[in-house]
Amino acid sequence: MTNLLLASTENIDNQNNQHTPLNDPEIAGVVAHINEEHLDELLGFLSAFTSLSTTELDLVDAQITDIYAEGIAIQTCLKSSEIQPAGAHNTSLHNQTFFIAFAAPIFQLDDLQAQYILLKQRADKKLGKKTIKLTKQVFEVQNSYRISKNMLRLELSMLSLSDTPLNNAAQLSNAKGAKNSTSVPTNEAGYAYLFDLEHNAMTNALMTDSTDGNKAGDYKTNGSDKENVRPARLHCYYTLRKAWQADDEIRAWVDVFLHGDTPGGNWATALQAGETVVTKREFPEKVEHLRDGQAVLIVDETSMPTAARLLELWNNPTPPLVICVTQDAGDQSYLDTVKMRSCIDNIGNDNSNTDSDTNNDCDTESRKDDRFTVLPIVTNQPNSGAELATLIDRELGDYLTDNPLQIDKVWGALEANTAKALRPLLKDRLELSRTDVVVKVYWRHD
Ligand SMILES: Cc1cc2nc3c(=O)[nH]c(=O)nc-3n(C[C@H](O)[C@H](O)[C@H](O)COP(=O)(O)OP(=O)(O)OC[C@H]3O[C@@H](n4cnc5c(N)ncnc54)[C@H](O)[C@@H]3O)c2cc1C
Repeated sequence: MTNLLLASTENIDNQNNQHTPLNDPEIAGVVAHINEEHLDELLGFLSAFTSLSTTELDLVDAQITDIYAEGIAIQTCLKSSEIQPAGAHNTSLHNQTFFIAFAAPIFQLDDLQAQYILLKQRADKKLGKKTIKLTKQVFEVQNSYRISKNMLRLELSMLSLSDTPLNNAAQLSNAKGAKNSTSVPTNEAGYAYLFDLEHNAMTNALMTDSTDGNKAGDYKTNGSDKENVRPARLHCYYTLRKAWQADDEIRAWVDVFLHGDTPGGNWATALQAGETVVTKREFPEKVEHLRDGQAVLIVDETSMPTAARLLELWNNPTPPLVICVTQDAGDQSYLDTVKMRSCIDNIGNDNSNTDSDTNNDCDTESRKDDRFTVLPIVTNQPNSGAELATLIDRELGDYLTDNPLQIDKVWGALEANTAKALRPLLKDRLELSRTDVVVKVYWRHD
């Protein structure tokens, strides 16, 4: 069935389905990527902008079929388990196409990201969910040091006066006491920032210029100058490992996995105390499903910071199993000093840092025996590809044979091909629903 159903009234933009094709050869790749990695967002758009009910949405999968200048076409299809026989009455949900309109038309594929983010922000707002923010934040580097063989910790502080934490976010106030819209979440695991690597390349170029005898003010950022200092990679995602309020400032850790001569690693290694780092986008991680049930966390070096914070803020009576995959045995120690929420003392979990989340509401007495189990996997090679998924699945299978556990929830973040191969293996092995298995892509091997 290929009827075109229009989404809610706010999305009706063309009664005749005369949408403008973009005719860009890269569209197919973008569509494939969104369909593979962003199913939950597509379902969120359907939930926020169409009349489909939560019950109906539970029965379907969704995929983008095309991207037009005016919006995206999303098609529903019944999940295979729903088609026969019980779902026969739901056939109206099969192959229905919904048109979701952008706030403003796009003229080229490069404009898609901004409109897609706007759609996501509107959908999340309607659904009462935390969402992606396009905010610029400036931190100052205080220190950096290795915390395991290949993990570099950046200690950052947020410039400006601080105020009483509100809604678990440390907020800034300006000199007149007015609230600044910027905030750093102190009580959220996996909150990610897109760091602007170009900012430091530019700043370093200016510094070099001025020490060469030119006045910094004379620096002209015209096109060719910018090209000369532009790093191979303009930005990179790193997770807020932890943030807390300290006296009159916000302190934060960001842990960067160093894996050779790469733009992100080189940027982090070159940072000096007193330099600023700038972030341009930020978004929360999808971890709400971990509040109950037996969870397994599956991480490599890039997602160990998220797992560490998840454990510190663990809000589930059952401790998780953590599958920790590292290339180097020397990075397995990363989780050694991490204490689950109920075990964190009043000084913080290490380095004598005062941790703002120590006055948590957890019942320490009843949970003091909580321990999480780490299942270490050391591969001696970069942790990517479908073979790694097979290895993780096999190790999990062996563990569950020796330690019979009913796993109810999964959170993981890995390399793209590993994540893609692992999702179906886990769904089969653990017999879990789509919403209970969240395996994110944190990086791509090339
Ligand atoms: C939401 C989110 C949160 C993240 N949080 C963190 C974090 O807290 N800490 C962290 O270290 N990373 C984190 N990452 C991953 C990080 O953004 C990527 O690993 C990024 O690609 C690193 O950039 P790079 O310049 O080092 O390498 P790239 O420029 O991406 O690639 C250079 C080369 O290195 C290879 N490569 C890239 N990443 C890896 C890797 N992990 N292992 C082996 N080879 C690799 C590539 O295949 C390529 O050959 C996060 C990613 C996301 C999406």
